[in-house]
Amino acid sequence: MIQFNKPFVTGDEKKYLAEVFESQEFSGNGPFTQKCQNFLSDFLQGPEVLLTHSCTAALEMMALLLDFKEGDELIVPSYTYPTSASAFLRAGAKIIFCEIEPQTMCISVEDALSKVTKNTKGILAVHYGGIAADVPGLKSEVQGSRVSILEDAAQALGSQLNGQPLGTMGRLSGLSFHETKNIHCGLGGALIINEGDLDRAYKVWERGTNRREKLMNQVARYSWCEVGSSFYPTEFQAAFLWGQLQAINENSEKRKSIYEIYAHRLKKLADDGRIALPKISASNKINYHSFFIFADSDQQQDDLRNHLLKNDIQAYIGYVPLHLSPMGKKLGYKREDLPVTASFSDRLLRLPFHCFLSNEDVHFVCDKIEEFYSAI
Ligand SMILES: *Cc1c(COP(=O)(O)O)cnc(C)c1O
Repeated sequence: MIQFNKPFVTGDEKKYLAEVFESQEFSGNGPFTQKCQNFLSDFLQGPEVLLTHSCTAALEMMALLLDFKEGDELIVPSYTYPTSASAFLRAGAKIIFCEIEPQTMCISVEDALSKVTKNTKGILAVHYGGIAADVPGLKSEVQGSRVSILEDAAQALGSQLNGQPLGTMGRLSGLSFHETKNIHCGLGGALIINEGDLDRAYKVWERGTNRREKLMNQVARYSWCEVGSSFYPTEFQAAFLWGQLQAINENSEKRKSIYEIYAHRLKKLADDGRIALPKISASNKINYHSFFIFADSDQQQDDLRNHLLKNDIQAYIGYVPLHLSPMGKKLGYKREDLPVTASFSDRLLRLPFHCFLSNEDVHFVCDKIEEFYSAI
């Protein structure tokens, strides 16, 4: 079976996990957490980075730090992971779903801006598949207003737009280190703070306390200062992540080689109009998180996926758009509300993509896609 995903591992994670056993610092915010945060800060060209136990946690921190509450609105593409919306909904915000650009499956700036009201507090851009959403476009349009631009960069570590790392353009951004992402620690994430009250962020991160000030000997004892939560990961996760971060370049080279085979092999089907491929601008350096294609119809996507499955190849649909989910329906959304999202998500198919695919595997997947299209 050619699996859709196989989590990346280097083997070195074990060595760092053993170091945690020796140091007896288990609970979090220890040496490995510090090392990962410093690494990520450098890698991202300078912002403050706080490790979290998930991207979901980073998104929940965003909602807390920006004081989202009843009456505030968050604009977010329907085409995303549920917690991009639920993190803000649970803070009391009203979720306003917007459309995507079909070429990239990332936020439509035009549609998002058309939905801004006096209650809009934030717009969350999601970098789908590591492809850049137009964050600069959003930022220039809301300049001087109360609207914060935020980034869900869960899939985007290593991608850049005009030389700027994704995750460093919005006010706050989230990364994910879930095992389905390029670099992971089982479950994990990070909050990137590009603008904002760092001191408060530390408190919210450490269960609402000023424990950091105690560790820095600025106060004699620490106590409760803010509404916070237990947002950071254990040192086990940080140690595992540290092992992975050492191999970020190899990981990216391997992914690039897979991506290039897919792109090269599937170009003819795209040129002949049998399938469509995303259009990625030259200013967008991608992290090769995924490879997806668009079939002509929902039915054709299904048939192609089943054809691949019959050949022991696991391809995967993308997100069920949130406005079409049971929760989206509860929020009052209908399919017709976001027709571009509904149509393109129906036809999107993600191909197997992980570091343990051989070139032959990738060619075999392409052979089977060609076989499918030559028969219809
Ligand atoms: C993976 C993902 C998340 C959730 O990340 P977790 O670390 O699993 O909480 C959120 N948003 C997007 C776009 C994702 O791809």
